[in-house]
Amino acid sequence: MSWHGDPALMETYALGILDEVHSSSIEAHLLRCERCREAIARHVGRDRIEGMWAAIEERLDIAPQGMVERLLGRLGMPDHVARLLAATPSLRLSWFGAVAIALAFATVAARAGSVGVLQFLVVAPLIPLAGIAVAYGPRVDPTYEVGLAAPMRSFRLLMIRALAVLITSMALVGIAAIALPHLDWTAAAWLLPSIALSLGNLALSSYWSPQRATVGLVAAWTLAVVLGERFSSVPYAAFRAAPQAAFAMIAVASIVVLARRREAFDTRRGR
Ligand SMILES: [Zn+2]
Repeated sequence: MSWHGDPALMETYALGILDEVHSSSIEAHLLRCERCREAIARHVGRDRIEGMWAAIEERLDIAPQGMVERLLGRLGMPDHVARLLAATPSLRLSWFGAVAIALAFATVAARAGSVGVLQFLVVAPLIPLAGIAVAYGPRVDPTYEVGLAAPMRSFRLLMIRALAVLITSMALVGIAAIALPHLDWTAAAWLLPSIALSLGNLALSSYWSPQRATVGLVAAWTLAVVLGERFSSVPYAAFRAAPQAAFAMIAVASIVVLARRREAFDTRRGR
C-alpha cells in the first residue's frame, strides 16, 4: 500500500476523538506499517499509554488460564512465554484432538497393508507442517496483534512456537507409529521428512506467505512420494537412504536460511 496515514488524521486518532470509519482504516494500516506506528507514537500522551497498559494488564490477568498454560507454568516456563504458547492454535487441546483422529485413521489404514503404511508415511510429516503453518500469521493467530506489540522479537516468538509445535506433533506421530504393523525402519522413516518439511516451511515463509509456502510444500512432498513409488523398483522409494540424506540437507539449509533471514520475520511477519 502506498498510502500512509495523514498526519492530521493520525493526531486526531491518537487523541481518541476520530470517527469509527477513519479509525478502523488507520488501525488496518498501522498493523502493516512500522513507519506510521512510530509516527503515531509521538502523538500519544504518556498518561494515555499508561492508562491503556493498565487496562490491557487487567484484562490479561483476569483471563482464565487454560490447561496447556497451567502445565507450562508448572514446568517452570515464564508466564509471558507460557501465555503466548498457550494461545498458539496448534498447541490447543482441540488441535491435539484433531491430530489424534487423523493419526488413528492413518494407523488403521497402515494395518491393512503396504499401501496403508505408505499413506501413513505421507501423512505423518504433514502433521507438524500443518501445525507450524497455523501457528502464526494474521489470519490464523488470535494473538498476532499482541505479538506485534510484544517486547519479544517476532522471530524469537515464532521460533519458540515452532519448536513447541514440532516437538508436540512429532511426539503424537511417534506414539501412533508404535501401532504400525511392522516396527522396522519404516516406523521411523517419517522423522527426517517431518523436520525437513517443517523447517523448510519456516524458511520459505521468509520469502512467501506462510499459506503459499505450506501449499507448495504439501504438493511437492506428495508428488515426490507418488513419483518415487511409481518409477522406482523398491517400495517406499522416497524414504530410502539417499532421499533421507537429502531431507537432512534440506533441514540444515533451512536453518541457515532462517538464521540469515530472521529480519524478514521481524519486519514483514505474517504477510
Ligand atoms: Zn504508513
